[in-house]
Amino acid sequence: MSAAPAIIEFDPTLRETPAESTPASLIGLSREALGEAIGAAGVPEKQVRMRSGQLWHWLYFRGATDFAAMTSMSKALRENLASRFTLARPEIVTEQVSEDGTRKWLLRFPPRGAGRPVEAETVYIPEEGRGTLCVSSQVGCTLTCSFCHTGTQKLVRNLTAEEIVGQILVARDRLGDFPDADAPAGGIVPSEGRLVSNVVMMGMGEPLYNFDNVKTALAIASDGDGVALSKRRITLSTSGVAPMIPRAGAEMGVMLAISLHAVRDDLRDELVPINRKWPLAELLDACRAYPGLSNARRITFEYVMLKGVNDSDAEARDLVRLLKGIPAKINLIPFNPWPGSPYECSDWERIERFAEVVNRAGYASPIRTPRGRDILAACGQLKSASERMRKVDREAARIGAL
Ligand code: SAH
Ligand code: SF4
Repeated sequence: MSAAPAIIEFDPTLRETPAESTPASLIGLSREALGEAIGAAGVPEKQVRMRSGQLWHWLYFRGATDFAAMTSMSKALRENLASRFTLARPEIVTEQVSEDGTRKWLLRFPPRGAGRPVEAETVYIPEEGRGTLCVSSQVGCTLTCSFCHTGTQKLVRNLTAEEIVGQILVARDRLGDFPDADAPAGGIVPSEGRLVSNVVMMGMGEPLYNFDNVKTALAIASDGDGVALSKRRITLSTSGVAPMIPRAGAEMGVMLAISLHAVRDDLRDELVPINRKWPLAELLDACRAYPGLSNARRITFEYVMLKGVNDSDAEARDLVRLLKGIPAKINLIPFNPWPGSPYECSDWERIERFAEVVNRAGYASPIRTPRGRDILAACGQLKSASERMRKVDREAARIGAL
């Protein structure tokens, strides 16, 4: 195995300001910012609260994509808003459906500032009794975990709150997951019976390196008057940005997952290089400081099974010791290979044996079934895979044209 690659620090100059020419969107604004935006558009101060409540309902409960549909507001107001703001969704570049029902969208987001359009992926995983949407927080990733394909791409930029929420809205549009037009106004959609019942920030990027946008987006996703997902059904996964972990708990209040993957600092330094900055002891202290932990509200520790690297019985026992005192679940992820990846997935019997050791110590340790492998939608395969496939398509088209 080669030496661990360097960590590329998050560059705050990558902050994203909309291009001058792009009309402002009302999607992804906090309630307060939405009020300010419509106030600036001429809605009288006394009406701002009521109007932004109505808009919120149309945007997030109904999934309206057009101001004209917002029949609870006067025509003049709808026209005023339509002349100033957009509700455009990110453009769907490709939509792929796996034989197991997993769907993957490659989405294109307009340029911000002087930048160019960027693309990121969103994956929908239907399961018995629930459907999980895997959302991206960045285009690429500044971190360089050695087993992750996204980590081989350099960060292009953070996604804005609008773009993060946009992924949820696009998925619900495509799945027909918004209530019918005749649904009672003001009602709250229960989680049961919904296609997108859970959201995981486990797509491309490190969500805690895009804290503010992720926070705003998740507040919108969990707002009871709109998308109304319970915070217990939203999970943020981090590679271990220790100082931001307690803050995420206090300010976002969603469920937490930690990409642990190793029980010793020397190995974790190599697999998850951010460990050199915040080693295991510091990371676990930050986890202990996560507010609201209990047996009913546990941290999920993700552990990718790499053959001959981190999958021994001794490591399973060390894992149990390491997590002592933290309300935890352990999620074993079979490694999803990608071209040129330096690892192999552990054998199935090894994974089961590892799970058994962890289980016997009293931890739930589900083995995550890889989903959507045929469309390269599994953990750690995002975006670069589509880029490669599109290159293949382009090549095929070129040859076809000869
Ligand atoms: N950046 C965040 C969230 C996105 S990754 C994080 O690292 O937590 C979501 C999960 O998929 C992480 O646990 C990550 O370690 C794991 N993963 C990445 N590449 C993988 C691969 N090739 N096979 C299996 N899991 C992988
Ligand atoms: Fe980034 Fe997460 Fe992949 Fe590591 S595992 S490179 S943090 S996306």
